[in-house]
Amino acid sequence: MSNDPLRVLFLSAEVTPFAKTGGLADVAGSLPRALHSIGHDIKVVMPRYGRIDLQKFGLKEAVHSLEVPIDDRSEACRILQGSLGTGENKVPIYFVDNPRLYDRDGIYMYPDDAERFLYFSRAAIELAKALGWSPDIIHSNDWHTALVPNWLKTLYKDDEFFAGTATVYTIHNLAYQGIFGHRVLEIAGLAEYGFVYHPDLGALNEVIDFMARGILFADVITTVSKKYAEEILTPEYGEKLDPILRDRKDRLFGILNGIDMETLNPATDPYLYTNYDSRSLGKKVENKLALQKHLGLPERPDVPLLGIISRLTDQKGFDLLAQIADPLFSFNDIQFVLLGTGEERYHHLFQQVAQRYPRQVSANFTFNTPLAQRIYAGSDMFLMPSKFEPCGLGQMIAMRYGSLPVVRETGGLADTVENYDPVTHSGHGFTFKQYDAMALYTALVRAVETYQYPRTWQTLVRRGMRKDFSWGRSAKEYVKVYRAALRFRRKDS
Ligand code: ADP
Repeated sequence: MSNDPLRVLFLSAEVTPFAKTGGLADVAGSLPRALHSIGHDIKVVMPRYGRIDLQKFGLKEAVHSLEVPIDDRSEACRILQGSLGTGENKVPIYFVDNPRLYDRDGIYMYPDDAERFLYFSRAAIELAKALGWSPDIIHSNDWHTALVPNWLKTLYKDDEFFAGTATVYTIHNLAYQGIFGHRVLEIAGLAEYGFVYHPDLGALNEVIDFMARGILFADVITTVSKKYAEEILTPEYGEKLDPILRDRKDRLFGILNGIDMETLNPATDPYLYTNYDSRSLGKKVENKLALQKHLGLPERPDVPLLGIISRLTDQKGFDLLAQIADPLFSFNDIQFVLLGTGEERYHHLFQQVAQRYPRQVSANFTFNTPLAQRIYAGSDMFLMPSKFEPCGLGQMIAMRYGSLPVVRETGGLADTVENYDPVTHSGHGFTFKQYDAMALYTALVRAVETYQYPRTWQTLVRRGMRKDFSWGRSAKEYVKVYRAALRFRRKDS
C-alpha cells in the first residue's frame, strides 16, 4: 500500500550533533527526524569517533559483539545506541564502535579511510540483520557509504533478509568521490566481481571510485537540489561522472535540503544580542551595531554590512571577490565581515583585504557557531558567489535572519534565491549568472543601490524571512523517492 510506513536504514559518516564537518551532518541530523515525524520507522547509523562522548550523549551498548566481514576475515565491533532529537520525535541512532578504525582525533583524511568507511557501511548492513529489522530502504550518503548498493546487488543478492530492500544513494557533493586503488576491492569482498567498465569513464575505469559505484548500483540516486541534479549531467559540473549520471538520469532526483527552522530562528536564537522577527525588524539593527562593536568596525546603522560564512575552498567563488575587492571597498561605502576556515591562500587573501581596509573589513578565521549566528543576524547582505553549490545552507539561513543573499545562479542557490526585479518588484535577492568578476560586482552594486531605499529593502527582507525552508516538505519528497526506489527494485528483479 502506498501509505504504509517505511523502514529506512539511514547511513551517514557524520550526523549533527555528534560529529560535523559540513552540510551532510546537518542533513543527517534533520531528515531522519522529519521522516519519523510523518510516521516512518528510521534507524540512523554512524561511526563512533573517539571524540563522541558516551556520557554526554547517554549512549548505551546495544550489541556487545557484532561480527563484520572485512577483507579476508571477520572483525568484531560493539554497537552503541543513542537518540537523535528529543521528546516525541526521537529517532534511534546506532554507533559502530571499533577503536582500531575510529578512535582518532579527526573524522577523515587517514590513509586507511577506504577500509574505515567500508567497515562502517558493512557493519550497518550486518546490524540490521542482528536486530532482525529488515529495511524497505537503505539510504546511503556520499562516497563513504556508496558501496552499499553495490553489495546489495552482489554479496547480498540472494539474501532473503534483503529480498524486499531497495537502495537510495544521495550525492551531497560530487567533487568528493572516494577514489582508491585496486586493493580496495579485496577489502570490500568484491574482488571476484571485478571492475566496472564504462566506455566514457576514461581513467576512472582504472581505479575504484566509490561515488561512481553508488551511482551505478543504487535503485535511485538523489542529490540536494533540482538545479544541481540537472547541472551534474553536463561535463562542466559532472566531475567526470556525467556519462554515468546521464545513463541513469531517469533514476536521478533533486530534493532541496531544508534547514532546522526551530534552532535557526531569530526570534529565539540564544546567541543573538537581541531577538527579533519579521514584525520587529527595528531590533535587527541592534544586532548589527553590537556586531560592529565586537569586531572593531565603526558602529554605523546606515552602512550596508555584507557577510560571508563559509569553508574557504575553490568551490565557493572567492577568486571572483579577490578580483573586485579594491573597487568594491574603495568606491562603495560598505562593511564586510568574513567568518571561515580552509585553504591557506584564502586566509592570506582576506587577511590582506582586511589590512588594506581596516575600517570596512573584518576577517575571522575560526569555526565559531555563535559568531556565525550573530553575523547572519547582524548583516544586511550575505554573499555566496559559488562556482558550484549542490544546495547551500548559508543563503537559506541568511534569508531566515533577514539578510538578503547575493549569489551566483547555480545549484541550490538558483533554486532558493529569486533575483529582485525593480520593475515588477518581485524577488528577494541579487543574483548573477556568469562565473565572472564583473557580473559579481554588478550584483553587489545593485544590492548596495537597493539598500538606499529602506522601505523597499524591508519588504525584500520580510519576503525572505517568510520563506518556508523547513524539512517537512523535503521529507515528503524523499518518501516519494523511496517508493519509486521500491518500484524500480521490483521491476529490475
Ligand atoms: P558546505 O556544506 O559546502 O560547507 P553549506 O552552505 O551547505 O556549505 O553549509 C555550511 C554550513 O556551515 C552553514 O550552516 C554555515 O553557517 C556553517 N559554517 C561554515 N563555516 C563556518 C564557520 N567558520 N563557523 C561557523 N559555521 C560555519
